[in-house]
Amino acid sequence: MIFDAHLDLAMNALEWNRNLRWTVEEIRESERGMSDKPDRGNNTVSFDAMRRGNIGLCVATQIARYVKKGSKLPGWNSPEQAWAQTQGQLSWYREMERVGQLKQITDLSELKRHLNQWEDDVENQPIGYILSLEGADSIVSMEHLEMAYENGLRAIGPAHYGPGTYAHGTDSSGGIGEKGKELLKHVERLNLILDATHLCDESFWETMEHYQGAIWASHNNCRKFVNHNRQFSDEQIKELINRKAVIGMALDAWMMVPNWIRGVSIPSSMKVSLEQTIENIDHICQLAGNSEHVGIGTDLDGGFGLEQCPVEIDTIADLKKIPDMLRKKGYTALDIEKVMSLNFIKFLERTWS
Ligand SMILES: [Zn+2]
Repeated sequence: MIFDAHLDLAMNALEWNRNLRWTVEEIRESERGMSDKPDRGNNTVSFDAMRRGNIGLCVATQIARYVKKGSKLPGWNSPEQAWAQTQGQLSWYREMERVGQLKQITDLSELKRHLNQWEDDVENQPIGYILSLEGADSIVSMEHLEMAYENGLRAIGPAHYGPGTYAHGTDSSGGIGEKGKELLKHVERLNLILDATHLCDESFWETMEHYQGAIWASHNNCRKFVNHNRQFSDEQIKELINRKAVIGMALDAWMMVPNWIRGVSIPSSMKVSLEQTIENIDHICQLAGNSEHVGIGTDLDGGFGLEQCPVEIDTIADLKKIPDMLRKKGYTALDIEKVMSLNFIKFLERTWS
């Protein structure tokens, strides 16, 4: 089984108007001629493709940014609107549960039951999902965080792109402030998993100072290969390893090869390949001295599609190609199982026990 630690499923359903119960091909067909978004017709994710790839468990997001007046980033003009957007996304997840496509996993017993049932009947079992919030701007108050927890939220990333309410994210700089420290206190109290992805360097290191709870990075590659603040430096990776984190490998082209230009570069000519994913995996394993701190967190269809994917990927089912590539790199069957799913599963078992 493959565990994908980052998929914006509800965002695709509600903002891209993708019916994930259709096949990838049917969704592509429905988007023919559309140009409102750069990745129209280039989608890679559907429930059918996830089943074909044996992706039985994933972290699925709620995502809604709040922007202050004058910001150039797209987003909602108040945290309340952003909250409401996440509640619409939650409602979609609930509907997908109702029709048997998804199953929310919130604790150890649900996790164990799901893992047992999945192997029995991959065709018909609901796909398990752990609910995560990417960027915490929609958390209007700590009461909202409690409500989110009650609704099954189990992981939270304080920031996304730009300056946020609780931390500074990608392409911005600054710390976490008093609000960020308060958020971390409640994240730790509720035993939510903190997602370190998207924290800018200063906010990352301040978070390490003020937070002692469970931490992972759902979709984050290494700065060694692409020198950008969105990527982790070796020092950051080592810190995460010390904290028993697992880092999910993202399949967004610009985070895999240097000098990618969005909307201009082409995966084949830039040689964007799962080989780079293997290099990122191996780098983290070398820093750790073992294979226990890296997993898969693709972010497929996270605002990009085939035009910005490794050449081996047509649909998410192609994640099945990774194990063979790891084998060729010299990884044992157990190492491969750890990377493909076990590391994240063990992380959840440890955090929830
Ligand atoms: Zn992201």
